[in-house]
Amino acid sequence: MKYLLKTLILGLLLSCVCAAGASALDNDMLKVGIKYGDEAMFSANLQNYNDSVAGLGYTFGYFDSGRVYVPLGPATQEYKVTVTVDGNFYTTGSACYPGTGSAGATVGGWHLQLLDVYATYEEAMDAAARYDGAHIAYLMNAYAVRVGQYASQAEADAALAAWGGADAAQVVAPSSTGVVVTVTGTDRVLFYFDCGGLRSLAIQPQSVNGEKPVTWFRGYRYYGSFEYQRVTGGNLGVVNVVNIEDYTKGSVPWEIGNDKPLEAIKAQAVCARTYAARQTRHRSQGFDVCTTVDCQVYQGVAASNAVTDRAVEETAGIYMYYDGTLAEAFYYSSNGGASEDAANVWNDEVGYCKGKIDPYEAYVASRISKYEWSTTFTAAELKTRLAARGVDIGTVKNLYVSEFTPTGNVCALTFVGTSGSKTFYRENCRLVLGLRSMRFHIGDVTASETFCVNDAGNTLGTLHGAYTISGNGVRSPYAADASEAYVITSEGVSKLERERNAVPAASDTFTVSGSGWGHNVGMSQWGATAMAELGFGYRDILEFYYTGIEIR
Ligand SMILES: [Zn+2]
Repeated sequence: MKYLLKTLILGLLLSCVCAAGASALDNDMLKVGIKYGDEAMFSANLQNYNDSVAGLGYTFGYFDSGRVYVPLGPATQEYKVTVTVDGNFYTTGSACYPGTGSAGATVGGWHLQLLDVYATYEEAMDAAARYDGAHIAYLMNAYAVRVGQYASQAEADAALAAWGGADAAQVVAPSSTGVVVTVTGTDRVLFYFDCGGLRSLAIQPQSVNGEKPVTWFRGYRYYGSFEYQRVTGGNLGVVNVVNIEDYTKGSVPWEIGNDKPLEAIKAQAVCARTYAARQTRHRSQGFDVCTTVDCQVYQGVAASNAVTDRAVEETAGIYMYYDGTLAEAFYYSSNGGASEDAANVWNDEVGYCKGKIDPYEAYVASRISKYEWSTTFTAAELKTRLAARGVDIGTVKNLYVSEFTPTGNVCALTFVGTSGSKTFYRENCRLVLGLRSMRFHIGDVTASETFCVNDAGNTLGTLHGAYTISGNGVRSPYAADASEAYVITSEGVSKLERERNAVPAASDTFTVSGSGWGHNVGMSQWGATAMAELGFGYRDILEFYYTGIEIR
């Protein structure tokens, strides 16, 4: 019943606006916005990647509200095609520009259109065969035949008069929602599409010899089809309509790297697939996900290799759920030693994103660029940073962590000035200072913290790289704020106590030192890498970083 209602609502929406339609999970087709908004294009070229194989052309059609591709005619054998905004345009090499130009070929935006319309492409083709240079136009459920190209209404009117007047044909002007497909670099029109913005032209590459088609678009190779959205006039939004598995193949290498161990990439694949399937933020723009870090980086197949493809194939169709619904698979590069509750970062409770001491990153810390970082601020710099957030407390005299979370990340940071104080909470502790992570401390480590061994009889200056053993003898790298850790000294095994001096003395400069890079909610990609190298499988990795999830 719920599904029916959703279908009905979508149907109603689609009748007024060309929305992205069904969700990616309904039939596994994902819409990826490549060019849209300010980046929408006047003209877009497509080229088959493997153009040496004869017959690698395209069909023209559209994706219906259920994201099923509906072809509108037989395939063209042309393997380099250009989609352009309806109207006059001219070519220079393979590029198209609006208006009429002396260079290259000019395509006129006015045409004569036969008075009959046809129910099928074949009927329209039979009619078009009687005229030189005629092309087929798809106009929402009907096909028309257009003859001639003219740069102005006057030229088209003159041509119509010579042809026999209004009894023979009609003059059609450029449409604000029309798109033209030409053979790249020529004035040869292959197809015209205008559904008043209710449907968008889609172009699907042909498969030859069972090969999976790959298409070049602006320097990258993509699986799947392309959709050209011109819903309310203006330039073309370009959307890659791609099976979610192929999308995942194109995203995973950019997000975790194509040189990581298989099981870590498999964990990333489940995250990437799950993230994409539940995104709805871009729906009003006509697609599901964009191609940048705003969603997940995706550049077609450019960075894929055999290992990343295998990781996606071995987890095909597997998603992560919490309480029966898709879990938003948050992840980041490294947490510096402990992940964090979403509530302590974003003030939003996420049941499966709980802070945990991460004993794994330490195994690979030496390979993580800037894993441990340090930055020094002057009082003047802090004043500027506060001013940027509308805060004025005079000259900053002190800065200290006023609250750590149970896993040792910073969740309250206090600035003390000559005319007041200001405390930031959660993610803002990191953002106000532009820090790489929320796992940090202020001041010199040895001055602000003491690591006491044997009841403060001995102290350690730093614990980075130190190994500890647990109460039951398991050896592991020291994880800051481990609830219980023991160290081995010449005296034997001793319990380790960590003491903090939370409020350093007033100063003119403040050194902030920390570890990790990212928001610390969910999976650490470097932790996943370490776990994979230690022999854990992708399910172990996901279950460690996401509490109480289901993987299926
Ligand atoms: Zn996005």
